[in-house]
Amino acid sequence: MKDTTLLSMLMNLPAHWQMSEVVPNLYDGSILLKMTYPRTTDYSCPQCSKRPKICGYEHRTVEHTEQLMHYKTLMSFEVPKIYCQEHGDVSFELFS
Ligand SMILES: [Zn+2]
Repeated sequence: MKDTTLLSMLMNLPAHWQMSEVVPNLYDGSILLKMTYPRTTDYSCPQCSKRPKICGYEHRTVEHTEQLMHYKTLMSFEVPKIYCQEHGDVSFELFS
């Protein structure tokens, strides 16, 4: 079993998220999990359910609430930036 498969199972990640790489940093005591969100996923505006336009992607790194074996757990991913004609820039729940 690959390390990314095992960690995805242990962290109970939603099925549409894929872990592409695990990067341990022994010097600062962290583990970086590089995540991929499928670009083919249909996005909808949370307010009107229309399909807004994807106007780009924003790179984010967040700290997970749980540590992995006493290492700080960081997750990096590209977040779609979406724009609804009626509601402007909108965000959606990435981990639902
Ligand atoms: Zn909308």
